[in-house]
Amino acid sequence: MPAAHARIYLDHNATTPVDPLVVAAVAEAMRNDFGNASSVHHFGQQAKSRLDEARHEVAALIGGAASEVVFTSGGTEADNFALRGAAEALEPLGKRHLVVSAIEHEAVLTTARALERRGWRVTRVPATASGVVDPDAVAAALTDDTALLSLMHANNEVGTLQPVAACAAAAHARGVLVHTDAVQSAGKVPVDVSALDVDLLSLSGHKLYGPKGVGALWIRRGTRLLSPMTGGKQERSRRAGTENVPGIVGFGVAARLARERLDADALAQASLRDRLETGILSRVPGTHVNGGASPRVPNTTNIGFDGIEAESLLIALDLDGIAVSTGSACSSGTLEPSHVLKAMGLPLHDTQNALRLSLGRHTTADDVGRVLDVVPGLVERLRTLTDRRTPASATHGGTR
Ligand code: PLP
Repeated sequence: MPAAHARIYLDHNATTPVDPLVVAAVAEAMRNDFGNASSVHHFGQQAKSRLDEARHEVAALIGGAASEVVFTSGGTEADNFALRGAAEALEPLGKRHLVVSAIEHEAVLTTARALERRGWRVTRVPATASGVVDPDAVAAALTDDTALLSLMHANNEVGTLQPVAACAAAAHARGVLVHTDAVQSAGKVPVDVSALDVDLLSLSGHKLYGPKGVGALWIRRGTRLLSPMTGGKQERSRRAGTENVPGIVGFGVAARLARERLDADALAQASLRDRLETGILSRVPGTHVNGGASPRVPNTTNIGFDGIEAESLLIALDLDGIAVSTGSACSSGTLEPSHVLKAMGLPLHDTQNALRLSLGRHTTADDVGRVLDVVPGLVERLRTLTDRRTPASATHGGTR
């Protein structure tokens, strides 16, 4: 039992609580803007104007034009749209090669595997031990038949920011389209489509205090892309299907709040995250921060605990009322290593002992204090239980 304590949520990279202003806007849109945005009558046009307002807000968050924003059912669909849409458009030109980083989200990696099954060649560029892809390695992977480079802006497990602009320059020099998955960076660090020099950018509402099941793909004007979703002429024929008006309205409000609060949120979360991180490193021997030496989003820390199975620590923390996550997935009793930590070249045991703690807008200094009170004892208990004690020589925390 979490005693008298309120539960602490440190899993904002999985999803965020919906901002009350977003909840109010969604409810209002459900009540009043029920028209089909494709209808010519008043009700339809009212819904359409709500979509347009949201489109402007989402575009403003990333420095793009509203006409370039296509709403989707989330980040996964936006990633699918980018990869499959580029494939549909560029295959006829003989381009059948895709370059991705090995630390992308499953939405990109699994879609890349699907393209492989239809005859595409896929190059997966590994990350360095510090969790960042090397632009020279990306440039070296590009060939004359490369259609698309897909490189995420911020990694969801370790939070590291990737050198998107540098890689985009190399790709564009060879006529290669560039996609970035900005699902984990939008609302946490400035995201600007011009500065990043990308052609396609994915967003998701529920990672920035908006509703689930809504996202967007930003498509630079003039980009060759065929929509994988066929049907009606919604979203200027770029994505068929009646728009989720309330969800999109909520996403628009969330995007505005993210833009307005970006600096204050980033400052507050970076300071709490750093306090949490240094606190764990100094209180728990045999710990290290994965990706800690690289530029990161301000809310994320990924900490490895020697001699621990991350899943056990996650469960112990949950029983104490603290929600965190692991990058590794537990399937049928075996802990699968995190593909991100693996791609960073970590030894197998270090791909299974890491916890991701991702802070948010409502995380407090008290939350951090309680985690620091609880974690050392739990780790010690688990290490004793599994009889895999840290060597006496274990040093206090470091950074990777
Ligand atoms: N891309 C990244 C980097 C993510 O972290 C996620 C969600 O975990 C997604 C894509 C998928 O977004 P959605 O949950 O909106 O489908």
